[in-house]
Amino acid sequence: MTEASGVGSGMQRQERDKLQKILVSACLLGQPLRYDGSALALDSERLARWQGEGRLVPLCPEVAGGLPVPRPPAEIRGGSAADVLDVRATVMTNAGGDVTAAFLAGAESALALCREHDIGVAVLTESSPSCGSSRVNDGGFRGRKIAGEGVTTALLRRHGIAVFSQHQLAGVERWLREREA
Ligand code: SF4
Repeated sequence: MTEASGVGSGMQRQERDKLQKILVSACLLGQPLRYDGSALALDSERLARWQGEGRLVPLCPEVAGGLPVPRPPAEIRGGSAADVLDVRATVMTNAGGDVTAAFLAGAESALALCREHDIGVAVLTESSPSCGSSRVNDGGFRGRKIAGEGVTTALLRRHGIAVFSQHQLAGVERWLREREA
């Protein structure tokens, strides 16, 4: 490497370090971590660009919280995700197993990762009991959606982190532009 190229790559690294990082649901990047062992790979130019810029920090909160792949489907019961954080509601599997502790541990892992990388924005998978940001299943395991959010989303928002779904990437772009102007 020449001295000039060393300086150049150092400057590139500095520029890159100034870019806001984004926490992203790992399944959106093609990792097969969903309850049924599938992925939800998002085909998006924006996401690909952010990945190329080194902004993306992937995490699956449920796996980080200790749950296996595959795993039984789970839904929030007896209240909202905020109620789960406040120990007033639970997350149960369709077989009646209480997985609240794993969901809380996964949410804490996501928050810790955001703090580690100074992350202020996340793109999380809509409707998941961990990652949903505007709707979730109603707790009856009948595929009915209601307004609400997942447990990780609730914890991140409680700590001031903006959470968008994979359908709101234009909003993420605006968020980034405002902070990097
Ligand atoms: S917990 Fe979130 S990241 Fe993990 S598989 Fe479900 S939606 Fe994807």
